[in-house]
Amino acid sequence: MELINIKDVNVRYRNGVNAIHNLSVKIKKGDFVFVIGGSGSGKSTFIKMLYREIKPSSGEIILGGLNVAKLRNSKVYKLRRKLGIVFQDYRLLPKLTVYENVSFALECIGTERKEIRQKVLKALELVGLKSKTRVYPDQLSGGEQQRVAIARAIVNSPKLLICDEPTGNLDPEMSMEIVKVLESINKTTGTTVIMATHDKEIVNKMNKRVLVLKDGYLVKDFEKGKYYDEDN
Ligand code: ADP
Repeated sequence: MELINIKDVNVRYRNGVNAIHNLSVKIKKGDFVFVIGGSGSGKSTFIKMLYREIKPSSGEIILGGLNVAKLRNSKVYKLRRKLGIVFQDYRLLPKLTVYENVSFALECIGTERKEIRQKVLKALELVGLKSKTRVYPDQLSGGEQQRVAIARAIVNSPKLLICDEPTGNLDPEMSMEIVKVLESINKTTGTTVIMATHDKEIVNKMNKRVLVLKDGYLVKDFEKGKYYDEDN
């Protein structure tokens, strides 16, 4: 079953730059997909259009039954509920503990305290940080902070976990740890994972599907790929 069906999508920014050209791609439920390409190839644009941070200029994106491009602004929350998003810079709230960072969104939507506790502890367990619930972000390493951000992203069991350069600020060892955590979430919960990266070592080791963007075009789609670099 498909989770995402992208048909003939173009993204043109107001300054006239065409960031995505005629993109068509399908992503199945439970897939783990890397999106790679050089700087300016369109990775961020691709990721942002999935969570409706930007709208395509033409074409169609169907995600979990929602027509993303056509969705009214007042209905975007329906899409966001299906997604977890992880950024390069963690974006944790510094004055909240690990537990509170992960529980925050559930508190906002009025989830019952007992259910919040179950979900938060389960998410922290999945990222291997159950012992750090009372700690503040600045007492954690970069890799641990990113794991908290991942726990926050998966706490409400999203269908899709979107990661935009999640290892961009981390050393190779911590980067590998993060990707292993993502792989284990993908395997144990069936959550679909899409990760934009230019970390060659990670892509080469993981042997997952690889979409290669170049100048806004999808130029390769490998089922079980290595890092693909047209320049060498
Ligand atoms: P990547 O994430 O692979 O570095 P981007 O998606 O950020 O690539 O950028 C793709 C192209 O779109 C680049 O030419 C970039 O300069 C341009 N671009 C990105 N964001 C904007 C924006 N907000 N306005 C205008 N052009 C943009």
